[in-house]
Amino acid sequence: MPERIDLEQLCADKGLRITEQRRVIAKVLSESDDHPDVELLHERASAVDPKISIATVYRTVRLFEEAGILDRHDFGDGRARYEPAPEAHHDHLIDVESGKVVEFVDPELEALQKQIAEKLGYRLVDHRMELYGVRIGRDD
Ligand SMILES: [Zn+2]
Repeated sequence: MPERIDLEQLCADKGLRITEQRRVIAKVLSESDDHPDVELLHERASAVDPKISIATVYRTVRLFEEAGILDRHDFGDGRARYEPAPEAHHDHLIDVESGKVVEFVDPELEALQKQIAEKLGYRLVDHRMELYGVRIGRDD
């Protein structure tokens, strides 16, 4: 399901100045489909360029987020986690034991949310939905 989003291209489209370190961070983000936090991003980015500091990763994700090309999530563990802003909407289910994030889209759910907003007198422009679960039927 995860579509590859070329963040470096999006930076160019948005007119963001792209430094070599930002390029590395953009590439790492584009290649991560596990919604990494800043520490994990730093680990991956510094494997490519050991000179990249965690402060640079923080600044860069904030810059990308402000430009609207990166989405920040809080999946309940207090750590901000990131993914390139997807073209098509999806929601998340978080495995509370492993921290694994599963992406899903449910047209009925989408329609229902729209209906609820309308019933309350609103036109829905956005929503965020996170489900938290434990895996059923595990052997261990
Ligand atoms: Zn996602």
